[in-house]
Amino acid sequence: MQEYVDSYYAVTANSRRRHAPLRGGMEADVCVIGGGYTGVSCALHLAERGYTVGLLEAERIGWGASGRNGGEMFKGHRRSQEELERWFGRERAHALWKLGLEAVELVLGRIRQHGIRCDLNRGVISAAAKPAHILKLRESVAKLRDEYGYADQRFVERDELVHLIGTERYFAGTLDLGCWHLHPLNLVLGLAEAAAGAGAQLFEGCRVVDFTRSDPATVRTDQGEVRTRYVVLACDAYLDKLAPEIAGKMLPINNFMLATEPLGEATARSLIPDNYSVSDTKFVVNYWRLSPDRRLLFGGGETYSRTFPPDIGRFVRKYMLRVYPQLVNARIDFGWGGAVGVTMKRLPHFGRLAPNIFFAQGYSGQGIALANLAGKLIAEAVAGAAERFDVMAGLPSPAFPGGTLLRHPLMVLGMLWYALRDRL
Ligand SMILES: Cc1cc2nc3c(=O)[nH]c(=O)nc-3n(C[C@H](O)[C@H](O)[C@H](O)COP(=O)(O)OP(=O)(O)OC[C@H]3O[C@@H](n4cnc5c(N)ncnc54)[C@H](O)[C@@H]3O)c2cc1C
Repeated sequence: MQEYVDSYYAVTANSRRRHAPLRGGMEADVCVIGGGYTGVSCALHLAERGYTVGLLEAERIGWGASGRNGGEMFKGHRRSQEELERWFGRERAHALWKLGLEAVELVLGRIRQHGIRCDLNRGVISAAAKPAHILKLRESVAKLRDEYGYADQRFVERDELVHLIGTERYFAGTLDLGCWHLHPLNLVLGLAEAAAGAGAQLFEGCRVVDFTRSDPATVRTDQGEVRTRYVVLACDAYLDKLAPEIAGKMLPINNFMLATEPLGEATARSLIPDNYSVSDTKFVVNYWRLSPDRRLLFGGGETYSRTFPPDIGRFVRKYMLRVYPQLVNARIDFGWGGAVGVTMKRLPHFGRLAPNIFFAQGYSGQGIALANLAGKLIAEAVAGAAERFDVMAGLPSPAFPGGTLLRHPLMVLGMLWYALRDRL
């Protein structure tokens, strides 16, 4: 079993609780595979509905992307409403928007309900990295306000933006007070406590090696097995070879973060005086925010191979210095990476491998809200109300060209092309 990566999040985790691995056999109504937001949220919703649940996590709860991410909780979907309307029509686009808002409310509600201490703060800025992006941001604010009745987002002119984010690198932006930022590992640990409290049995250090596509199904680990009526696959970018049927529709991309040393109040306020979180409009996104102890948590850079750069802090630092050259002397205390599951259309991929085997993956960088929602929708579907799950399962999810063998080289070429465009 692997421990948490050495990150700012791991050293500031609220809980050191360990869950024993599963040894021997167990019967459960539902077996959830994977202990990130998708799996833990699903386990919590199911346990609340009275189902017996066994959750099997290969490493530690929140070991995957849920415990390593940028902590920016966006509303809606990765694709703009304009694109969703073009692809699916107005009615479906509005239904998706409502689900996207519900996802954020769900997380906020859980934080309140279970008293989860996760440094929750309001407000995310999107910063235009090119003059050509300004109009898009302006139009998006207007569309959401006029056609979706969404008033939490506003356009920010350049002068104000410079003040809000302490850099002159960007051209304009939006400020969305319906988006939030938080400590991602403490969120998933808090949700896991709540799930255990509701009666779900959580196991760490038990990697599922296979499961039968049958009813009932058997889910096997090295040391035990679960006999179950339903299986929920919640492995996202860490799915590996467990379900080849869906692996080709999601690509794991490595994304990286750093945490500086504590910068002191004055420097921190000179960067982000109102403590918002920021991401820019580049294809390979830069994103950043402050921690409560006034470190800069900065995400930037991607790789597409199975290995991480040898010195991640150094790798991300060059992106940070392009935004904040004044931090040239700031010590880098942590550098870490994780895998983001992306799909061809950058929309989540929900579905069933069999009538009793559900999965959700590929949130494409918006998993804090959407993966939590996925857990809820799967629980509804298990309980026999699958309409909302099927709205998501009905989204197109084309396979990456080249299948699981060639998707990487082809995708790398595509990604490198877009990354190059960031620099033009
Ligand atoms: C660096 C980084 C920055 C990000 N920034 C943001 C952000 O700012 N905002 C946002 O919304 N999203 C962000 N994301 C994406 C977000 O973190 C994910 O979409 C989300 O956490 C996915 O949750 P999940 O539960 O589906 O998967 P994960 O949290 O990855 O959990 C999957 C779990 O499955 C387990 N598993 C895999 N195989 C097996 C097996 N065979 N048996 C048992 N267990 C198994 C893994 O160990 C893992 O713990 C970021 C991701 C990364 C890596």
